[in-house]
Amino acid sequence: MRTMILQIWALISVVAKFVNADYSEYHNKHMSQQLSLSNNSTSNLLLPFDTTRVPGSPESLYIQDFIINHYKRQMKQNWTIELDNFQENGYNYTNMIFTLDPTNSEKYIVFAAHYDTIVNIDGFIGAVDSAASCSILLYLSQFLDTVSFEDRYLLDKKWDSNEMGIKIIFFDGEEAIHEWTETDSIYGSRHLSEKWMKTGEISQIELFILLDLIGGKRTEKVPNWKIKSYYKSSHKYYQELSHIEDKYLNENNNTNTVAHEKELFPTDVLYLMLNKVLIEDDHVPFYNANVSILHLIPFPFPETWHTINDSFETLDINEIHRWSTILCNFAMKLLSDGL
Ligand SMILES: [Zn+2]
Repeated sequence: MRTMILQIWALISVVAKFVNADYSEYHNKHMSQQLSLSNNSTSNLLLPFDTTRVPGSPESLYIQDFIINHYKRQMKQNWTIELDNFQENGYNYTNMIFTLDPTNSEKYIVFAAHYDTIVNIDGFIGAVDSAASCSILLYLSQFLDTVSFEDRYLLDKKWDSNEMGIKIIFFDGEEAIHEWTETDSIYGSRHLSEKWMKTGEISQIELFILLDLIGGKRTEKVPNWKIKSYYKSSHKYYQELSHIEDKYLNENNNTNTVAHEKELFPTDVLYLMLNKVLIEDDHVPFYNANVSILHLIPFPFPETWHTINDSFETLDINEIHRWSTILCNFAMKLLSDGL
């Protein structure tokens, strides 16, 4: 009788864990350590980006090492590391691609951001553009690595049946060297998309999620923003992401002193009806190759955008935590329910 009660209890716990999988236990344990503006520990994934990252510069090489070592040293699963090096306009560029694909699938969800900074603004740090987004990708990677490793039941039941892998891309050379034109911008994504067009890998991308300008403070000039839905082909994922955001806001605004505003508006369909590229970014060459794109970028842009003031003082750690949590839950939803 006693063992039977224990067995039933164990079963209930597993079911409860599965049904209520919001992974808050994981986030409570790791987030404030790994995504912090003050803690100097080696587990901090945000503060190392507090430097310029001009393509090919010693600072860029340092941050490349930091990112690569995160996948080499912190991960329990087998992540494939691919470096896409090339030269253009006298600069050395390196895109970094990290793949988690335990089931040898042929289909991928991509999460991407750019790690380079503007060349011609001396000392430009690019905290929202896009250091914070890069740190969110590092956190998301370790989350997926740990959760799928520790919760084998999720891995076995879901990843196998849906055969979906994850690719995390850190693009170099998003910024223009002189002035933004078609040929002076998005060096990294143009190079990688061409490469993957030749190899056929581009058609393996089921959904391409691009983060940019995430994590800034609200200011008097820009007190609020929307992250809009731009493309018909990805709108159903945008709606799903908005549900996850709603859930996050409900839970967080009830229990926390930090109030969060909603940023996703699935019924705001004006841009969706236009269904074309209105904000040029690293997704463009992938969009042109018919990849489904979710472009997560606030509009209006943060007040500090492309100024020397885009520094770590203007980051809002609650905003970074919010998007980290929402994107972790979104990734797990995509992996477990498929696309
Ligand atoms: Zn920029």
